Amino acid sequence: MTHAKTRFAPSPTGFMHLGNARTALFSALSGDRFLLRIEDTDAQRSRAEFVQELLADLRWMGLAWDEGPAGAEPDDYFQSRRGAVYARYYKELESSGLAYPCFCSAAELEVTRKVQLSSGQPPRYSGRCAHLSVEEVERKRAEGLQPTLRFRVPREQAVEFEDAVRGPQKFQAGDIGDFIIRRADGTPAFFFCNAIDDALMGVTLVLRGEDHLANTPRQLLLLEALGLAAPAYAHISLIVGDDGAPLSKRNGSRSINQLREEGYFSEAVNNMLARVGHHYDSDDLLSHEDLKARFDLSHLGKSPSRFDITHLNHWQELAVRAADEDTLWAWLREETRAITPAPSRSLFLEIVRSNCMFPAQADEWARILFTDELPMEPETEAIARQAGESFFLAALDAAASAGPAFAHFMDQLKSGTGAKGKQLFMPLRAALSGRLDGPEIGKLYAALDPTRLRRRLAEYAGEAQ
Ligand code: GLU
Repeated sequence: MTHAKTRFAPSPTGFMHLGNARTALFSALSGDRFLLRIEDTDAQRSRAEFVQELLADLRWMGLAWDEGPAGAEPDDYFQSRRGAVYARYYKELESSGLAYPCFCSAAELEVTRKVQLSSGQPPRYSGRCAHLSVEEVERKRAEGLQPTLRFRVPREQAVEFEDAVRGPQKFQAGDIGDFIIRRADGTPAFFFCNAIDDALMGVTLVLRGEDHLANTPRQLLLLEALGLAAPAYAHISLIVGDDGAPLSKRNGSRSINQLREEGYFSEAVNNMLARVGHHYDSDDLLSHEDLKARFDLSHLGKSPSRFDITHLNHWQELAVRAADEDTLWAWLREETRAITPAPSRSLFLEIVRSNCMFPAQADEWARILFTDELPMEPETEAIARQAGESFFLAALDAAASAGPAFAHFMDQLKSGTGAKGKQLFMPLRAALSGRLDGPEIGKLYAALDPTRLRRRLAEYAGEAQ
């Protein structure tokens, strides 16, 4: 589609999770112009703090909107502020007889619904209030009853549209039943304000979860009745967890702000999400511009898409490896930066880049290298002990004569002890870092302050330093 105007239309009733984040990402990637609209018509469940979070999450993901709210303070891109707009269209539908007040109570509707279900019929409004006379309506109003407003669905019409993901769609309007477009408390129903705003805001492509597929015929009927232009639709498959069940906390779903707090890079999150249900020819970590340039609606898949944390971690690893010094430095925890001596900064960042995936791991390494904390498992300590005191005495000598020249230190240690390979590296690693894996040993050697280095070798050399 050329020059598509897309939108993301979240309801601020909770934190943004992976499913919503992917809808936002796909919408931003597929639009030449990307609009953000806050659907806060449910006053009970919408909260200002969720709007704030949402905007922060979208900014963090780099999904800048070309049109939308200026901030968290409600403006014209918040549905709660658009009552006057909706009122005009209610009036239009009512005066042309395409909408009517309905006084059925929730309890009455529930009874009808149960009867229909138990006789194998699809539940839909019975039409009980569809033909009330003006007098009847007035009498009920005078009794203090607050009606909902229902859209009169044309009975004999098929609603057809082409879904960009799911292909041709056909629904019988007669199966739908007259539906509520304004609740009894005066607030607009989702079908209504969502469709009207898409039209009024010039949205040409609606990309959203397939849980909305069945809403689309209702929205198309409304738009047609009002003579408003309908957008194209792309209903994307839902994300499921690795157990095949809908994504939830139990199978690994996380909110975007949780991921951000754990230290995931937005680039990693975006590269992962962009490939959940959408195919790219490239397995490289792509920039936002590249993700956008190569996004293709025809690469969206119909089957449910799986979220797998190992995929996210793969992209995270690539993002850390690719990050420049300033980015990595800013990513570290404040306490990590505070204990990293300025002259060791570049070396430490190199260590972080090739060994860590999260700021918490970088912090462990900073403590090992730049403080006297040296947590060690008994097996690790045993490996250092087994090398023997003479090994570490030779290491102390080698360090004294080599100074910062690591290659020289190793040559001398090798010739002094006859040890090589694992026998050489493992005890050294254990004594210097308390660990058997991690950064190249030359980097450990270079990052440790010479006094601390000596002290750690002396610990196993039977010498009090
Ligand atoms: N506010 C709706 C939601 O969050 C928007 C659905 C749509 O994209 O049309 O589910």
